[in-house]
Amino acid sequence: KTPSAYGYPLLIKQLLATIYEPDQEIVYRDKMTYTYKDMEKRTRKLANALEGLGITQGSTVAVMDWDSHRYLECFFAVPMMGAVLHTINIRLSPEQLVYTVNHAEDDIILVHKDFAPLLEAVKDQLTTVKKFVLIADYEDAPATSLEFAGEYEELVEAASEEYEWPDFDENAMATMFYTTGTTGLPKGVYFSHRQLVLHTFGLMSAANSFRAQLKIDAGDVYMPLTPMFHVHAWGMPYSMTVMGAKQIYPGRYEPELILKLYRDYKVSFSHCVPTILHMLLNSPSAKDTDFSGWKMIIGGAALPKGMCIEGLKLGINIYSAYGMSETCPLLTQALLKPNMLDLPLEEQVVYRTKTGLPCPGVQLRVVDPAGNPLPHDGKTAGEVVVRAPWLTQGYLNNPEKSEELWEKGWLHTGDVGIIDELGYLQITDRIKDVIKTGGEWLSSLELESIISQHKGVSEVAVVGVKDDKWGERPMALIVPREGQELSKEEVQTFMGAWVENGAIPKYGIPESILFVDEIPKTSVGKIDKKEIRAQQG
Ligand code: ADP
Repeated sequence: KTPSAYGYPLLIKQLLATIYEPDQEIVYRDKMTYTYKDMEKRTRKLANALEGLGITQGSTVAVMDWDSHRYLECFFAVPMMGAVLHTINIRLSPEQLVYTVNHAEDDIILVHKDFAPLLEAVKDQLTTVKKFVLIADYEDAPATSLEFAGEYEELVEAASEEYEWPDFDENAMATMFYTTGTTGLPKGVYFSHRQLVLHTFGLMSAANSFRAQLKIDAGDVYMPLTPMFHVHAWGMPYSMTVMGAKQIYPGRYEPELILKLYRDYKVSFSHCVPTILHMLLNSPSAKDTDFSGWKMIIGGAALPKGMCIEGLKLGINIYSAYGMSETCPLLTQALLKPNMLDLPLEEQVVYRTKTGLPCPGVQLRVVDPAGNPLPHDGKTAGEVVVRAPWLTQGYLNNPEKSEELWEKGWLHTGDVGIIDELGYLQITDRIKDVIKTGGEWLSSLELESIISQHKGVSEVAVVGVKDDKWGERPMALIVPREGQELSKEEVQTFMGAWVENGAIPKYGIPESILFVDEIPKTSVGKIDKKEIRAQQG
């Protein structure tokens, strides 16, 4: 098909069509630094190398790697050649790994040496994979019985740089990955070229519509702190590449190395789940690190007020954003309207920790069980449903679950939320995590946010536990701050202030408060409430 003046497809290659900063740097740990110009050239070499290994349009190329420049190259090269990129969650159990690789019908897996033992153990159960490529990561090859068709760097190095990116239907599948599968088997979600291009533009306009609070552009130094296998690191590597920002990829997450990269390169923009920021701020060299001016999006889970206050005091421009695997992920960002920037810190925290305003291109409603939209009054709660051009069309080869996801033409998030008069959404819980006590709903996220503000609290999770009298009661798990003595009564008294000002009802104070060393986390580092409930019976 010849590209026409009217219907020229939205293809990922358009995102690389203009490179504003050819000499801008892309850095991978202390191992590799190169320029945008080199990166673009290497995508062509990678496409030739993959073609040499039998990859053609419609093939599926899977990757198991830490956050790296290689991943960035694959984000572009694999879909641009017409193949599908499957980003594998490196923390899946061996059973889930086998299930997802077979279900996705992967043709080839590019595997970092750290994960070779994992693949080696299950290789005989993989039904579609024809080849493995080793990512040696500039070190010696591991001892393994896996047979490799080559090593990433060597293959790219040796390949020709002549490659003409093809044109094809913008609705062709570009990327896919599996939800973390907190219940049942992981489900595959997938995104087309058109969707990823629109999502990239959506991200860029969302970030730059609120320039009074922050701007994100070519002058930034970007370091993702979200695994690249999880929702394409929220799509940010695509948008940061289009803008021409300096990019720093930290590889395996080692807090001290991340802080060193942060300081050495003066990183100005990052995004992560709350637990990762918590880990960094509690790492030894954090106290000698100047965090001021760091733009930081916290997403994937609610931003607790305690963490927001701590961040703002350190000078971090911290705020929350919301999305999910099914939504590519961009849905909302908790950016302050220009007139809110003069508010005192405590009031800013209220808006920065909300779930946020829908981003450009996102239609968002809170609905009752019959699907009727609920008022924006800051108190009526219902399920959050959304529409946007970049949401997954369904779950791969799973018509039943896809239909449930898209019931009545809206994507059902499974989250419960409230929209206020200014249009800010506040997620109060996941439907399955809502605490029902004495016939009333309690928001576990709200209770966590309150407890997080006690100075002796390092981390907190609240779940509902069965109770004969009330049906369910909230229970709090608290990791105290190092060196701090904390008692149950102290936490209850602290929460009493919120009862007095009407933020929570009296029955929101848990009788059961446990002090623990650690809170269970999911494979992407979020608090794992299913696991907590299982442990607490
Ligand atoms: P998983 O289901 O394994 O956590 P996802 O990344 O798809 O994987 O999780 C999306 C979910 O995370 C959302 O449905 C929501 O419940 C939660 N979430 C994401 N961002 C926020 C936020 N800003 N506030 C509250 N919850 C959030």
